[in-house]
Amino acid sequence: MMIQLHPYDITVQYVRGNDLPVADTLSRLHPPHFDEECSLEIEFHVHSVMKSITVSDKKMGLILKENKRDPVMIELTSVIQKGWPNHRYQCSANMQPYWNVRDELSSVDGIILKRNRVVIPRALRRDILQQLHVAHLGMEKSKQRARSSVYWPNMSSAIEDLIRNCEACGKFSRNDQKEPLISTPNPQYPREYLGIDFCKINGRDYIVTSDYYSRFIETDRVESATFSEVIKKLKAYFVRYGIPEKFRSDSGPHFTFYELQSFFQKWDIQYLTSSPNFPESNGHAKKAVDIASRIMLKAIESNTDPYLSLLEYRNTPIDGEVSPAQLLMSRSLRSILPCTRQQLESNTVPKTKFLKARISRQERQKQNYDKAFNDLIELKDNQPIWVKLSKKATRWRKGVVTSCVSPRSYFIQAENGRFYRRNRAHLKPRSSVEGNSAQQSSGFKGDEDLPSEFQPPVTQSSSPKKAAPKTQDNHSTGKIFQDSPYRTPRTPTAPPAANSESRNKNW
Ligand SMILES: [Zn+2]
Repeated sequence: MMIQLHPYDITVQYVRGNDLPVADTLSRLHPPHFDEECSLEIEFHVHSVMKSITVSDKKMGLILKENKRDPVMIELTSVIQKGWPNHRYQCSANMQPYWNVRDELSSVDGIILKRNRVVIPRALRRDILQQLHVAHLGMEKSKQRARSSVYWPNMSSAIEDLIRNCEACGKFSRNDQKEPLISTPNPQYPREYLGIDFCKINGRDYIVTSDYYSRFIETDRVESATFSEVIKKLKAYFVRYGIPEKFRSDSGPHFTFYELQSFFQKWDIQYLTSSPNFPESNGHAKKAVDIASRIMLKAIESNTDPYLSLLEYRNTPIDGEVSPAQLLMSRSLRSILPCTRQQLESNTVPKTKFLKARISRQERQKQNYDKAFNDLIELKDNQPIWVKLSKKATRWRKGVVTSCVSPRSYFIQAENGRFYRRNRAHLKPRSSVEGNSAQQSSGFKGDEDLPSEFQPPVTQSSSPKKAAPKTQDNHSTGKIFQDSPYRTPRTPTAPPAANSESRNKNW
């Protein structure tokens, strides 16, 4: 039915039953014979959808091969071709999960589609999940990315499990503590307003620019942070995407060169800086640095290609349903995930609708902020957790809650076997799949992150009471960038594996 209706642009309008003399008659008037023309039309449509799917032959061959030997896929293909039963209870157990989406499923040449998403057989789901999570983006972003190209029942829970169990995400995730919301300008077109910042990742200098409109991030390694190097990189960006109207940075030493200022003047760019000692007003660029450095650190940690991670970030919807690539280039970028040809073709995002949605979302976020600020869930005894042991710690450590001392204050045992008391703000739940890894972990490198004041468990009465939301956590990511003159984001304490080092050396 959906496929038959696909070519029409339908407007639904309510009309009272009394005013519909013929509708009831028509709804009971089934065509007496099988409509061959209609069947051909459906087949034509399905073939055109298949033709538009740009999955590499190799990948398509793999999906096809698995579909042929997966009993569920074989049954699903057969049910799609022969027709679904009238009631859900008439379906086999294997078909039940597909019942709610049955109208959207089609099958041709051995491949099953849910609209234009490829239904992935069980044996390949693990691989697809790994590819989806190559950028180590958060739950919502990963789900949105998946929903744009692939499908299987309970895919969202699989993504949640994957991220909860991901070592790289656990170690380099953001602090639970919230930072004050920074309102950023909402430009009217791509590359109108650009932010820039520097960062050091794995001992190397990077320049990170981000477009306020599309959130498209560019990351470039620089040999030295001299003005000539900066100008060279900026010229390359501006030639590629056009000259921005406004350009914002903090008041760091890299941006005070006379040559840089005169370059902006010559290229007709309004140059804005945040006040000294108030880098928060360059929050957009700081966030871009945070995202870029996290993408790279997680890629190094999980031994994946950071270029693919950045590509996935650019393809992932960040504002509702639109990705940075769609906003900047009006199309999705071809990646290693299956996608339809339609997504690769130019298709401009309607600006008014998109900006309205963005502004209302920003307002909603602001309203919910105070509520979320107080929303850290309570931890239970023996609950596996991630813990940030010291102010200088760059990564989260594994641990287990031993007991709750007072509201928002817990005794925990860290992976080094030692006991600590920590505020809820420095603890976050960890999946229990790996079991109690406090004793098992072999990756712990010692107490290099721990200052001397850390104490073994103390009695409840001697513990000062702390309220999580009020705790100032100056070692949260943003603050690291803000406090450091060179904005050094998290740098792994352990060197990456040799092959990841060589693969990432150009970053
Ligand atoms: Zn991850």
